[in-house]
Amino acid sequence: MILVVAEQRGGALNRASWEAVACAQQLAGDEPIAILLPGGGDAAQALAAAGAGEVLTVDDPALASYTPDVQVAAVAGAMAQTSPRLVVMAHTYQARDYAPRLAARLRAPLVADVVGVKGTGAESTFLRPMFQGKLVAEVAPQGDGPAIVTCQIGAFRADAVVKGAPAAVRTLSVPLETPSRQTVEPPFQEARQAVDLGQAERIVAVGRGIKAQDQIQVAEKLAAAMGAEIAASRPICDNGWLPMDRQVGSSGQTVAPKLYVALGISGAIQHLVGMKGSRTIVAINKDADAPIFEVADYGIVGDLFDIVPALTAEIEKQSH
Ligand SMILES: Cc1cc2nc3c(=O)[nH]c(=O)nc-3n(C[C@H](O)[C@H](O)[C@H](O)COP(=O)(O)OP(=O)(O)OC[C@H]3O[C@@H](n4cnc5c(N)ncnc54)[C@H](O)[C@@H]3O)c2cc1C
Repeated sequence: MILVVAEQRGGALNRASWEAVACAQQLAGDEPIAILLPGGGDAAQALAAAGAGEVLTVDDPALASYTPDVQVAAVAGAMAQTSPRLVVMAHTYQARDYAPRLAARLRAPLVADVVGVKGTGAESTFLRPMFQGKLVAEVAPQGDGPAIVTCQIGAFRADAVVKGAPAAVRTLSVPLETPSRQTVEPPFQEARQAVDLGQAERIVAVGRGIKAQDQIQVAEKLAAAMGAEIAASRPICDNGWLPMDRQVGSSGQTVAPKLYVALGISGAIQHLVGMKGSRTIVAINKDADAPIFEVADYGIVGDLFDIVPALTAEIEKQSH
């Protein structure tokens, strides 16, 4: 059995949880899949409606605000009752925080940041980037116990989830100790403002082709017209033209929006690994040989300062 651990915040399911379900379905073959949602609630019904597998919840007030101790206790407790072969979750900030702890607690192998899978059942292996994406390792977890796998955001397509008849929701009785080592405080002000680009449906990303900080408004106007988040390549954030949390790439965020518009971005590998999972990529670059065009679904060769204002005006016209 494969156990997918889904994630929610404030009752809203993390979109990346569907990507973890898609990964589990690729791995499953004939194996059953169950989806664990710590905290339960309405999001469990949404998962069950998709019919991708039985939905399991652990309901406890201690799960209302995430802490790694309680999360590990909930997932480990659910694992003890369901004996999965694999535990699959999205490589979210939360998973990065608690998955190593869970693996250490259970002495289970952890394969993190998986971008692809090969085979099904006991034969399955996992692909994960190493050395800033310079090479991809094929990893086979060792041992008999369950292995824990986290999927890179955008590596598996949420819309590839094969849906079925609505599934049941079952609440597990897992005793959770009150967390003794962590107390939850309100989020930092920065955290509240920080953007999780991994959740964005549309992104306009700007690169060094924008030339100057005061030109970024050209991209911001397009983003506003499209209802998109603004993002950037590393030099833009290194220059302080946009905050670091807007950086996409191997040392920034990994994103998988429905639409990614790259303006004046050359397409260096460190940038591509962060956005190549986008559903549709539009690139605007004046260099026809720029590597970004190799991953783009639509390419416009030209000066962004001519194209972007015209595009913005056209979108604004359409939406009025
Ligand atoms: C360890 C490491 C980690 C890194 N991590 C990241 C990361 O997380 N994210 C990241 O993005 N980079 C990262 N980098 C940097 C990466 O290697 C590239 O240097 C960077 O992505 C280049 O950014 P860019 O495409 O904006 O700039 P450039 O490569 O300079 O490209 C600018 C592009 O704009 C085009 N252009 C110029 N003027 C116009 C115009 N008027 N209209 C249209 N097009 C125009 C040019 O043709 C060019 O293709 C990392 C590098 C290292 C070594």
